[in-house]
Amino acid sequence: MKAELMQYSPELDIELDNIERILWRHEAEEGPALVVFAGIHGNELAGIYACKKISYTLSKMKDRLMGSVYMISGNRQAIKKGVRYLDRDLNRIWGELSEQPDDSRTDGATEWSEAYDIFQLVNAIIDKHQKLGQSIKFIDLHTTSAESCAFIPFNDTLENRRSAALFPVPQILGIEESIHGTLLSFINDLGYPAIGFEAGGHTDPQAEERMEAFLWLYLHFAQIINLRLEEMHRYESVLETIPEVPDQYYEITYHHFVDDARKFIMKKGYRNFDVIKEGELLAYENKEPVYAPSSGLIFMPLYQQKGNDGFFILKGRSPFWLEMSSIFRDSMVNNYLHLLPGVKRISPGSFTVDLTIARFFVKEIFHLLGYRVIRKNVHTLNCFKR
Ligand SMILES: [Zn+2]
Repeated sequence: MKAELMQYSPELDIELDNIERILWRHEAEEGPALVVFAGIHGNELAGIYACKKISYTLSKMKDRLMGSVYMISGNRQAIKKGVRYLDRDLNRIWGELSEQPDDSRTDGATEWSEAYDIFQLVNAIIDKHQKLGQSIKFIDLHTTSAESCAFIPFNDTLENRRSAALFPVPQILGIEESIHGTLLSFINDLGYPAIGFEAGGHTDPQAEERMEAFLWLYLHFAQIINLRLEEMHRYESVLETIPEVPDQYYEITYHHFVDDARKFIMKKGYRNFDVIKEGELLAYENKEPVYAPSSGLIFMPLYQQKGNDGFFILKGRSPFWLEMSSIFRDSMVNNYLHLLPGVKRISPGSFTVDLTIARFFVKEIFHLLGYRVIRKNVHTLNCFKR
């Protein structure tokens, strides 16, 4: 995989064995700051190559940059080996790190040293730019094991929605309810906007091209560079998806968690956003068939032997629903939620829902009002204001 990707950018001389933590940086006196993460998963190199390629051009136009840019590499030890991770998935451990932000961990996972390093760097960047009153935004670059068009996953905050909506690709809402401990959630919880960008299949040459297009456009939308109209259109056309996958909002309605990826075999040939029907045979797990529990669009089917997410099922969300949800988010309705049957207020902004009492559309109502809904057990939901 490493060798294949290398061919896409033969002019770049990148030593994967010893990749630097800061791939590139430009610190400006004024203007916004953009922080880009690449290679948080060690077998996803398209982001690293795109950063390197773009930074080469940015270096030559430094005097025209109207803000600061930091490009940061992720799991350097996994990059060296060409694998997703060595001991722990670097994109699943941030919840633990924020609960206990010191280096006293004893499980011996290689990834902690990477995480502390990035943690300190992020804190230093925030410190510096916050003091100067400058805005700080984050993006995290990835690719997928299945073939895919580009898409943007993000935690559903209004600010993230605004950033994501600028790009002509599908937008995946509420990923934080299914996947815990991601870098995006960690940054969002610090109070800064952070969206992901998934550029396509790990070894798809187009993925690197899409990464570059996305980065140029983001730099433009963040007002760090100025693209000409025709440049903008050119990059947008690189990102554009196939007609069967409209660039609308999607929400995760089902997450198939996998204990041991080596015992999970996804049926061949699924691409992200392929239509599936309820009852369709999707995979085998521990030699038992796995059928689709509902109809929808298949998302991130697992075609590698590492990771805990077998597949997701998505449903499209209408623009009307989104409009409604941004209107209701800060409305008075929030003050009366505890009056709904089965709903109990625990603290301001946090509720539990007893599903044996509240059966109808509870999750939808809380989503509409901007709550993160996490299933505590069969009968209880926990809902937190984002
Ligand atoms: Zn990834």
